[in-house]
Amino acid sequence: MNIIISEIENKDNKRQQISFSETIEEFNTQVPVVANFDVSITGQIIRIRGNIHAEVNLVCDVCLKEFTKIFDIEVDEAYTKGCLNDSYSKELELKEDGFIEDLNGKNEIDITDFVYQCVILNVPNKLVCDINCKGDENINKYIKKEIPDPRLEIFKTIKIEKDK
Ligand SMILES: [Zn+2]
Repeated sequence: MNIIISEIENKDNKRQQISFSETIEEFNTQVPVVANFDVSITGQIIRIRGNIHAEVNLVCDVCLKEFTKIFDIEVDEAYTKGCLNDSYSKELELKEDGFIEDLNGKNEIDITDFVYQCVILNVPNKLVCDINCKGDENINKYIKKEIPDPRLEIFKTIKIEKDK
């Protein structure tokens, strides 16, 4: 789904409400991502505000089982049509984690990609299905079992001599 910038600019209030509902293949689910945006244009700045509700199927780092994580994200991002100058950046009160992307004269914003990026930015580095996840029993058994390697045993007896 694309936002056509010139279409919004031609409106009297230079605003458009967008209801988004699409499945995103990378999220490994048939459940559509639902989002609502308010797009407004002021001078060179295109601002997108709204919320995203997404379900993403991920694999737990601890137990390696698939689980569904739900994201409810507030969005406040901005694009600029061309070169960003100081007066425009001052007009904008962006959140700390906001970004301004330069469209370089493009007339469209790929809103599917926008939604995808917003969700991906919110995926934590460590994926855990549940804060109490103790991992898979079978995997734990395997990891905890120490297999002595006779080739490594020798290192336990080596004493490192310090420089004299
Ligand atoms: Zn887990």
